[in-house]
Amino acid sequence: MGRKATVRGEEPAKGEAMPRCPRPINEELYRDEWTWQEGEYTVYRNCQYTAPGCHNGCGVLHYVKDNKLVKIEGDPKGALSNGRLCMRCLAMEEMVNHPFRIYHPMKRDPSQRGNDDAWEVITWDEAYDLYVEKAEEILGKYGKKSFCILGGTGRNTTWQFAALATTVMGSPNYTFGFLSGNSCYVPRMNVCFWMGGDVMVADCAQCVEEGYDHPDYVNPEVCVIWCCNPIVSNADGFFGHWIVDLMRMGTKLIVIDPRLTWMGAQAEHYLQIKPGTDGALALGWINIIIQEDLYDHDFVERWTYGFDQLAARAAEYPPERVAEITGIPEDLIVASARRYATAKPASVQWGLKFDQFKNGFGAAMGCAALWALTGNIDVPGGNIVVNTGFISGDARRMFSGMKNTAGEEFDMTERLGQDEFVVEQMGLEPQAHPDSLLKALETGEPYPIKFLFEQSSNFLANMGADPQRLLAAVRTVDFFVVTDYYMTPTAAACADLFLPIAMSVERTGCRSMFNPTRAISPVVTTNAHTDEDIVLDIGHRLNPEGTPWANATEFWEDVLHNIRDQAGKPYYPPDFTFDDLREKMYVWEPFEYRKYEKGLLRSDGQPGFSTPTGRFEFYSLTAEAAGGDPLPHYVPEPNKNADPEAFEDYPLYLTTGRRSWEFFHSEHRHLKSMREFHPWPQVEMTQETADKYGIEEGDWVLIENPRGSVREKCVINPSMHPDTIMAEHGWWYPERRGEISGDNPFGVFDSNINQLVPMEDYGPLGYCAPYDTQMCRISKCTDYHPAYDPGY
Ligand code: SF4
Repeated sequence: MGRKATVRGEEPAKGEAMPRCPRPINEELYRDEWTWQEGEYTVYRNCQYTAPGCHNGCGVLHYVKDNKLVKIEGDPKGALSNGRLCMRCLAMEEMVNHPFRIYHPMKRDPSQRGNDDAWEVITWDEAYDLYVEKAEEILGKYGKKSFCILGGTGRNTTWQFAALATTVMGSPNYTFGFLSGNSCYVPRMNVCFWMGGDVMVADCAQCVEEGYDHPDYVNPEVCVIWCCNPIVSNADGFFGHWIVDLMRMGTKLIVIDPRLTWMGAQAEHYLQIKPGTDGALALGWINIIIQEDLYDHDFVERWTYGFDQLAARAAEYPPERVAEITGIPEDLIVASARRYATAKPASVQWGLKFDQFKNGFGAAMGCAALWALTGNIDVPGGNIVVNTGFISGDARRMFSGMKNTAGEEFDMTERLGQDEFVVEQMGLEPQAHPDSLLKALETGEPYPIKFLFEQSSNFLANMGADPQRLLAAVRTVDFFVVTDYYMTPTAAACADLFLPIAMSVERTGCRSMFNPTRAISPVVTTNAHTDEDIVLDIGHRLNPEGTPWANATEFWEDVLHNIRDQAGKPYYPPDFTFDDLREKMYVWEPFEYRKYEKGLLRSDGQPGFSTPTGRFEFYSLTAEAAGGDPLPHYVPEPNKNADPEAFEDYPLYLTTGRRSWEFFHSEHRHLKSMREFHPWPQVEMTQETADKYGIEEGDWVLIENPRGSVREKCVINPSMHPDTIMAEHGWWYPERRGEISGDNPFGVFDSNINQLVPMEDYGPLGYCAPYDTQMCRISKCTDYHPAYDPGY
């Protein structure tokens, strides 16, 4: 029985077994074939990963006619989403067939950056020839490490950019470009690795084929939603509607968020926290749980390390102090801590915001410590240890080594960031540091960077803090390659070579975040190339020995055959092909709960966790060795940064980056349908705040701080705190096609809130950056009147 069949809108009585729904009735939709004919359409069961969209790889039905995607529906047999789709996926036909898409490579002389009239359409062979010519020229002058490959979020590219940098270009430099402080999931992943040896996530039965019907699965009694809005963001492979499933099955929520969300409104406890104070709340909860003896003694004694030090640190955070720091009433802090600690089981789903204030790492450590303190690690319905990146992890390891070991081919000790960050020197970071890259571009230290290749990122519009600084820095390189579907502000302003890439429906690939592994099959053919093929094609030219696969299918089959189970045995038989995976649609890796008891987490096969002590470390020896605070910690955010006087007239807390239904970061702003729902960037504030500054709902608002100013439209949100506003990120205006040339392509600097956020202001260890803890002032903007015309 599938996941969806167990979910319904009634709560079971206490102690009663979970009721079951009758199997849905439209059998025609619940087919097992991967493709079939339906009238004039060929239908494909497929995996939507990505882009556009997100990381999740939901199951979809692609309806194709005459080599064109004409419709998309959720796949009722999609193992993880069960037919549900976000509006971004429902608009896929519009996105894929959009008139602004580019299908031919283009080149332009570097002296013409920013000039849209200077592009020349070329063939793929010409594009690759140019790439090779420039690469060899720059290599001869500056050496391999002068190449840096920039990756972004999504687009199935978590391994390709590493492979391109290391194997193909022979450079140690690839990074999230330009995500200051690596402040998206990297800090939280490292907290998980350092304290518990592997990545952990709230259990919604996503790792087991039977879903909620798995015999061991238990719904969490309480799920804490901490600084995220999962039904909107669906972040990091976590499908937010799983939380709705849990709610329907009786799970109660505690929601911690500066802004009241739908889930917050459904919660048993809603804690409106001041941005950046999560570390204090985590320590406050830990203190209450220890003081009131609500922790799991057995788990703590047998499986953890550093409890006494944790208790001493937490004792510094009595409820009254935490209330003062966080703005949450003391009685609510106490009641919610008790509720989480006494619920069995309980889980926490955490979000991006832990990564987006300078001391978020310490807060994330506090959050992870709570899972272990309450014995909710790797138990059904708790925070489970997942088999990280089953396929993407193996692919990345394999392809980034590409059959030549890293040490032989290039020197990782020369990776950007080695001078500044101990974690880089210790080999704890998988990639170069983005802020060090910026410094190298600006100063040539420790060595010049002369060739940039950008894949799945549009940093001028989205993740790059201080984008105007970035624009000046990247224009110093000798050659800049951008891959994308459309002309973006980043490509328009900086690129010398534009390579058009395939969307999800046009690509061959595989996807696995937690479990299972899924095939991604191309269902239409265009002249755009996939990220995989671009890497392979360049590899064939620059390192043919290290790139032995003729195409992406061969590559993925090799990856599958190299995957080993716990005992080191190949998991897939040697004759298993990509077609087999496509036919099966989903292959489930074995998953067990309480792996730490069974010797399933450590490479030596012993019970325990894969940490230096073999225990879950409240006191992290890795953090200590890296020069960081080994315990969960809270440090007040320096919202005014290094220059408080410059911020004297900026009284409002500025939070950024909340997700919307319509957009994935800077994507989807081309789409009429999305802009119909969400035509302009929104800045949320209370009526009281708006009144104070003479602003009415719908007015354009000037948001300023000493770093810059942007314009967004006022939306009244009574749930905000009056001293805080929330401004959206990722905005540019694809419809302004008359404004591609110049230094403000597509009006990207009109509304990109990251102009108010600095680069190079990261937290300890180089992790986290203050995207969410800036100060600003606002005023009514009377001289900005853009009209929306979709441009086609
Ligand atoms: S979570 Fe939403 S946008 Fe992401 S793949 Fe699934 S349906 Fe598409």
